[in-house]
Amino acid sequence: MTVAIVSTGGTIASTTDGDGGARPTLSAESLVDAIPAVADVTPIETTQFSTVPSTHLTLDQMAGLLDFVESADEDATIDGVVITQGTDVLEETSWFVDCAYTGETPVVFTGAMRNPSLPSPDGPANLLASIRVAADPAARDRGVLVAFNDRVLPAAAVTKTHSMNPDTFRAPEYGPLATIAEDRVRWRRTRTVPRPGLSIDPEQLTTDVPAIYVTAAMSDRSLRACTDVPALCLATTGAGHVPPDILPALEALRANDVPIVATTRCPEGVLARDTYDFEGSERTLRELGCYFSDHNLQKTRIATIVALSADGLDTMFDRPAPPA
Ligand code: ASP
Repeated sequence: MTVAIVSTGGTIASTTDGDGGARPTLSAESLVDAIPAVADVTPIETTQFSTVPSTHLTLDQMAGLLDFVESADEDATIDGVVITQGTDVLEETSWFVDCAYTGETPVVFTGAMRNPSLPSPDGPANLLASIRVAADPAARDRGVLVAFNDRVLPAAAVTKTHSMNPDTFRAPEYGPLATIAEDRVRWRRTRTVPRPGLSIDPEQLTTDVPAIYVTAAMSDRSLRACTDVPALCLATTGAGHVPPDILPALEALRANDVPIVATTRCPEGVLARDTYDFEGSERTLRELGCYFSDHNLQKTRIATIVALSADGLDTMFDRPAPPA
């Protein structure tokens, strides 16, 4: 039983320089060496993938992480994978991998909110807990997981909810799949979000998908700038509502066959299909032929990018028919 640890950087791997500012410097090996208890759990292999803050991670690097876990799944000597990274975009990278990974080998993302130079750094506890999860046979075939602050959450639903507090990762309306207490992972239930299983063509990955947040009395300026984009992701208000002023810009995009993937800007809930019928309601989105996403805006964008590269928008998202 061997768990592969892949370090990409982030707070968990950061040290401070002379003026107290933290930046990633530590290797995967040193992260593991700092936790003597790992030796009692499982043998470890380490890989230094990158040493960057998570906002520096590129789509190519996300595809590289997917390659790594797919190879690990085919390697009979590897029983689980833990990927350490910065927390800022952890919900996006883990979801990117989850959109395509179909293997059974457990894949667990983790990180830290307090770097090792601060009182009570949370990295060692998160890494040890993640290794326990990755080494647990009950973690197999559950899709990509995030283990943080003694909770195990599905990558498909996890989001960072607090900018500084170590208790930051949550799966709103979904909850944890498992909790970790002492040395035991207690599984509560199975994943219910389907595993997308999209076949990514790395050559087709594009950063040119804008993600726009709808706000009260907004102008259509940001939307009019979206000419020539492969798709647009839109966080609408409430259950799928937009101001009438932006409708002409949305109609122009649709007239050019630009797919629009709509979601809600609310932290919880999904888009309605057939509750309201005013100009700019969810019925208007249906008339426009929008895709409806159940994920937050940042996850919707990642899912759109992955789906575009896999010719899989219709697999990834619901597209309710225009109202009769
Ligand atoms: N604050 C971030 C972290 O938690 C920085 C990053 O995402 O790399 O690691």
